[in-house]
Amino acid sequence: MILIMKQEVTESQLQPIITTIKEKGLDVQINHGRDRIVLGLLGDPEILQNVSFQRYDSVERVVPITNSYKLTSREFHPQDTVVDVDGVKIGAGDFVTMAGPCSVEGEEQIMEAARMAKAGGAKILRGGAYKPRTSPYAFQGLGEDGLKMMRKAADAHDLKVITEVMDEGHIDVVAKYADIIQIGARNMQNFRLLEAVGKTGKPIGLKRGISGTIEEWLNAAEYIAVQNNFNILFIERGIRTYEKATRNTLDLSAVPIIKKLSHFPVIVDPSHGTGVWDLVAPMARAGVASGADGMIVEIHPDPVNAWSDGDQSLNEKNYLQMMKEVDILAEAMKKVNGLSEEATSLAKN
Ligand code: PEP
Ligand code: MN
Repeated sequence: MILIMKQEVTESQLQPIITTIKEKGLDVQINHGRDRIVLGLLGDPEILQNVSFQRYDSVERVVPITNSYKLTSREFHPQDTVVDVDGVKIGAGDFVTMAGPCSVEGEEQIMEAARMAKAGGAKILRGGAYKPRTSPYAFQGLGEDGLKMMRKAADAHDLKVITEVMDEGHIDVVAKYADIIQIGARNMQNFRLLEAVGKTGKPIGLKRGISGTIEEWLNAAEYIAVQNNFNILFIERGIRTYEKATRNTLDLSAVPIIKKLSHFPVIVDPSHGTGVWDLVAPMARAGVASGADGMIVEIHPDPVNAWSDGDQSLNEKNYLQMMKEVDILAEAMKKVNGLSEEATSLAKN
């Protein structure tokens, strides 16, 4: 349930309401919106039903949130949430690119990948040190050594770091080196892991599960949000369908759907979303046009010899070309968004 307060509400009007909420054993999230305060109430639905908040003069509207994800929903937070990754803002209007290899393979490789990423205009370096591999015989990642190499390469090129954590036991070490903690597709519904990363307070890049529905994905985000962590990025990385021409089917309709239902930014991953390097740029362009707030893309100094996901990794020349195209479209999207804002305010008149 959410309480939308009157615009002119004062602190002394707010306090008794918050006291009542807490006395009933409910939790409250106080959200300072653009022009009014919204209180999000969480707890036993039966208790919620039996308290009447409409009787408070300072409450303008009581809105029951019927879906199971509440803090993640647009109803709870009507404005877009901007996730601030140590100064790099995601969801604030600029399209943000995260680029790097699938796996950290060594000091030289990640340093070169960071140089490439920066040259194309990426703000964040991606790379895995703990790798979820389909086969237990495949390269599993360099672990903490890989994290150190990645941090060093990112710092040398003024980039932030996104990297995956696969189990709870590695959260501390990953949080030490990463600016964004990635939850991989295979762990989208690893609920204990979601709660534990939520507690770090760090930005979390939540990949969509291989067979994750939109509703399951939103609920996965809710596990993070209930830890009072509102730094969530939804990453659409393709879902498994009957189609074999691509590794996964990049579901770009998820971008506007998530943006309608939630307030958190959405990132597209055209690399895992296609699995084929020459499909990456077209789908990155489509990702910009779909309204995504950024993308995560695999690049490699020598894709042919990459230790993982070489088939979908871009070399420097192709990456730089793609980034030029993406920049043009991202600028165009700012104009398009301006037009839709104008149209919305006209529609309200
Ligand atoms: C990755 O980013 O390299 C990765 C393993 O992604 P996903 O979890 O989407 O498969
Ligand atoms: Mn990969």
